Amino acid sequence: MHNHSTRSDGLLSPTQLIELAARTGVDAIALTDHDTTEGLEEAGRAAAHLGVTLVPGVEISVSWGMTTLHVLGLQVDPGAAELADGLRAIRDGRLERAARIAEGLAKVGIEATLEGALACAENKDMVSRTHFARHLVERGAVKDTQAAFDKYLAKGKPAFVPHRWAGLEEAIEWIRASGGVAVLAHPGRYDLKPAFRDEMLADFKRLGGEAIEVVTGSHRPEQYAMWQRVAEEHGFLASRGADYHGPGESPCEPGRLPALHASLTPVWSKWAH
Ligand code: AMP
Ligand code: MN
Ligand code: MN
Ligand code: MN
Repeated sequence: MHNHSTRSDGLLSPTQLIELAARTGVDAIALTDHDTTEGLEEAGRAAAHLGVTLVPGVEISVSWGMTTLHVLGLQVDPGAAELADGLRAIRDGRLERAARIAEGLAKVGIEATLEGALACAENKDMVSRTHFARHLVERGAVKDTQAAFDKYLAKGKPAFVPHRWAGLEEAIEWIRASGGVAVLAHPGRYDLKPAFRDEMLADFKRLGGEAIEVVTGSHRPEQYAMWQRVAEEHGFLASRGADYHGPGESPCEPGRLPALHASLTPVWSKWAH
């Protein structure tokens, strides 16, 4: 229930992603590109052709105070105006942010990265830190994309540029207005002290969030049990998703993660009968 394509920072086209799902025996897959639903039409055509069920989705970048959260919308209608307008508004800031990331890299001696990062991005308004990471690998500045984040691009590193994304309330509102379900992505990845984490979960629930990811390629296996407990205690539906970005970058392919524990109610119980 969580995968990327070249429409955001994935390496496979929507068609190639669905082909991979068909090859690996996945019967339902969500495409959840960052801040865009542009790939859903192509993915839908490939899914119909190959007999795979596509769950139309999106992963929205959200600012909650100083913390960036990712909120998945599953079963969204990409034609809904409120969602489309909201996503366009958050994409708009990305180019300018990219120029500032390039400035940050130049300050530590890695000059002229903007053009290279843009060349890695299919949609220039979706240029992301992942595209900078790939460009830094290409030019030999780091050994892999993870090192690019660890040395330069992650929060607290020299080329990190704080950015204002969507508000939590509005992101959930766009998802719900388009008929979708709001799912908190990889909750174990946010750097929040326990009191803030509880406040964030309470806000998410109060504002209409219905599910959290428990089993995800972005959690370490030893984190699954904790987020299972959180889902049970807070009354969230549970989701499972590879957060797949492409061969060589994501160790976990769609459909390869362990199943959700039987005590959890999967988010897809809302639509799959
Ligand atoms: P952006 O939306 O431009 O801030 O880019 C965020 C994307 O960068 C995420 O969706 C991940 O694909 C990737 N990313 C963020 N943090 C890391 C990290 N520490 N290590 C590897 N990839 C990361
Ligand atoms: Mn990503
Ligand atoms: Mn994410
Ligand atoms: Mn993701």
